[in-house]
Amino acid sequence: MNSTTRRLPLVSFEFFPPRTPGAARTLWRSFKRLQPYGPRFASVTYGAGGSTRERTHQIVRRMREESDIPPAAHLTCVGASRGEVDQVARDYWEAGIRHIVALRGDAPAGSDRYEPHPEGYHYASDLVSGLRRVADFEITVAAYPETHPEALSAEADLDNLKRKIDAGATRAITQFFFEPDLYLRFMDRVRAAGITTPVVPGILPVVDIIAASRFAERCGASVPDSLVSRFGRVGTGTQARSSVAVSVATEFTHRLMLEGVNEFHFYTLNRAAVVARTCENLGIVPAETAIPA
Ligand SMILES: Cc1cc2nc3c(=O)[nH]c(=O)nc-3n(C[C@H](O)[C@H](O)[C@H](O)COP(=O)(O)OP(=O)(O)OC[C@H]3O[C@@H](n4cnc5c(N)ncnc54)[C@H](O)[C@@H]3O)c2cc1C
Repeated sequence: MNSTTRRLPLVSFEFFPPRTPGAARTLWRSFKRLQPYGPRFASVTYGAGGSTRERTHQIVRRMREESDIPPAAHLTCVGASRGEVDQVARDYWEAGIRHIVALRGDAPAGSDRYEPHPEGYHYASDLVSGLRRVADFEITVAAYPETHPEALSAEADLDNLKRKIDAGATRAITQFFFEPDLYLRFMDRVRAAGITTPVVPGILPVVDIIAASRFAERCGASVPDSLVSRFGRVGTGTQARSSVAVSVATEFTHRLMLEGVNEFHFYTLNRAAVVARTCENLGIVPAETAIPA
């Protein structure tokens, strides 16, 4: 690469297991549409309390069988013993899945506090250590630019991230955030703490600001007033909101790229259009339309 060649950012895409046949068709349409953008991997979430255990497994298997995109399976500690979680991991390994996103998980619906299973892994750092004993997985963990809501302090949360990396994780993905400076300041602290692994910003392209604000409140992410009013000005039309979503996500990722960030993880919510257009705005052209050098 010569000095005038711009390095294109790397991307990965996150999907969730659908509940209905219609939603499943949307997922696979979106996955197919996003494949040509050449993600490093595509990850599939794990429902609270392991509620999507089978569906998550089926989706990552199908991704592996039907595409060249390496899949990553999310796995949580909630509601299962260490033995059960290890068995899920072994099943993944046997199915050729080599990448796990290791998480603690949240309290299942109906309970307001996370309680570790009496024989389970208590925290994500314990799960990472357990996975290391099962097989030589690539392991990704979660990081929180605005601090995890249950953390004793921002320092304690950073210590926890370090524990997860020291236990064997090789990458973190952040909770979504809506101010680039939050991530940049967080990364200063991450590097000062001696964490050298990639901490990839998780990007949530917002189309529905009301739903996103509700979701953000649960996750402890702040929503700037400027973002709310930007969506307020365009009303409720889907096309207008999608255009704003693409502009916002493009400006956001571009600002991070100017600061040297070169990898993004998109929370797709199983929708391809906004993510695809944002990738194109960043210069990532789908494989079949790329002009050979
Ligand atoms: C990229 C990403 C993907 C996600 N995917 C999923 C998914 O698929 N399914 C799902 O259910 N959820 C998912 N989540 C949500 C996640 O499960 C929640 O945010 C959960 O509350 C914390 O998970 P964690 O892995 O960060 O937990 P941990 O790293 O274990 O941390 C949880 C809390 O405990 C604290 N802590 C850790 N260790 C200790 C200790 N020894 N003593 C005291 N406090 C401690 C931490 O500071 C933190 O406040 C995802 C989150 C992210 C950012």
